[in-house]
Amino acid sequence: MDSSYGGCTTHALYYLFKKLLERDYLERALDYPYLVRLNPSIPSKTRGNGAVALNIEIRDSVSIECVASDVAAALRDYITEVRGNTSRACVALALDEVGSRFRELYFKALTDFVHLDYIAKLVSESRDKLVLPLGFSEGCIGALAAIGWDRSRCTYELLIYRDVARAQTIERVVDTDTLAELDRHLEYRTFCNYDYEEERAISIPRGPDPVLLGIRGLDPVKLIDSVKNLKIGEAIGGWLLFKTNQASGAHLAPRASTELKPFRTGCLTGVVIDITTRPGGDVLLEITDGYGSMRAAVFKETGLTRYIRNLVLGDVVRVCGSTKLWDDLKHVLHVELVEVIDLVENYVKNNPKCPKCSARMKSAGRGKGFKCVKCGFKSRNLHLEATIKPREVGVGLYLPGCRSAKHLSIPAPLSKAELENCGVRPSSTADFYF
Ligand SMILES: [Zn+2]
Repeated sequence: MDSSYGGCTTHALYYLFKKLLERDYLERALDYPYLVRLNPSIPSKTRGNGAVALNIEIRDSVSIECVASDVAAALRDYITEVRGNTSRACVALALDEVGSRFRELYFKALTDFVHLDYIAKLVSESRDKLVLPLGFSEGCIGALAAIGWDRSRCTYELLIYRDVARAQTIERVVDTDTLAELDRHLEYRTFCNYDYEEERAISIPRGPDPVLLGIRGLDPVKLIDSVKNLKIGEAIGGWLLFKTNQASGAHLAPRASTELKPFRTGCLTGVVIDITTRPGGDVLLEITDGYGSMRAAVFKETGLTRYIRNLVLGDVVRVCGSTKLWDDLKHVLHVELVEVIDLVENYVKNNPKCPKCSARMKSAGRGKGFKCVKCGFKSRNLHLEATIKPREVGVGLYLPGCRSAKHLSIPAPLSKAELENCGVRPSSTADFYF
């Protein structure tokens, strides 16, 4: 399912799931609900930067026509009751395991621009196992991509919803000290909930939407445990625990410079041929990979510039992110992850030392050699001395801090984490729904 009401998409799924339970349609849940983030560089975010899906078994006694019409009705109710816009909302029911075409679509929607024609073709080819109760729209790109998610690398997010009556108020009554405490408990395996530098909760959204907070973690069972000491001072509507591709770096496919077209995501490996620090501190790199060269912008807010500005020409790096068009109409890779692969030796040239008194000599003028200011020794036979300057950046992976990491980026706290928990399944709906 995909829709244009941003933070509400997961909440709409929550509402829908509740209806399915009320009608007693569910035989069992085959997995946690999915929250699938898609290509962040697509200019119109309504094309599904985040889509959601349920993987469920419906009771034999229930017909698919019945589910389809109830799902459509529930969504229309939701839109009337909460808010939103139906024009781009899409619900897709896949009646069976989907094939490789859906996997391909997921990868394309994650890393590239998807044309509506591409989806129309897929829909028409899959007519026997696909139902679109709200009809065909742009939102179907996200909805079908969520169905095709390969679940190869996963994290989890527990989304706690507010009482619908409070959804329009900005202020959220959550004790942030207890949130910081939750974040510090390593055994819960949560990440990026609290920014200690700015003393601010990252997991609490700041706009008027139904999400009270979203706790991200690596282990679904421990994630539910983690919130038991959280002090929340307002009514809760309920919660839903999602399996997600967030923080997995799934969109960072290796690409040649010629393939990194506008609105694509990926990683470019090559040699730094130009480096400029712009006023304000952003760093612009030009990188060549043998096929061509490309600009890559590292923004100060990512926290990566303090390492990157110490690169020199000739260093070999892998830069990953998404490509956007700049005002000069050239495309630039917006970097969210940097790997320094190889560093050149950085030489500095100094005037020679005086052979008589060891003081540093001065140039005696062009072509006239060097002279010693201390003892007066002169020579035309001495040369500049090259010394290796220690590098201020090391080989290794550099990841953004939690504050600036986008949904799909791997944030610094996960640099060594194995995202191995995709296979975990809920034993009942109580494991993920309240
Ligand atoms: Zn001297």
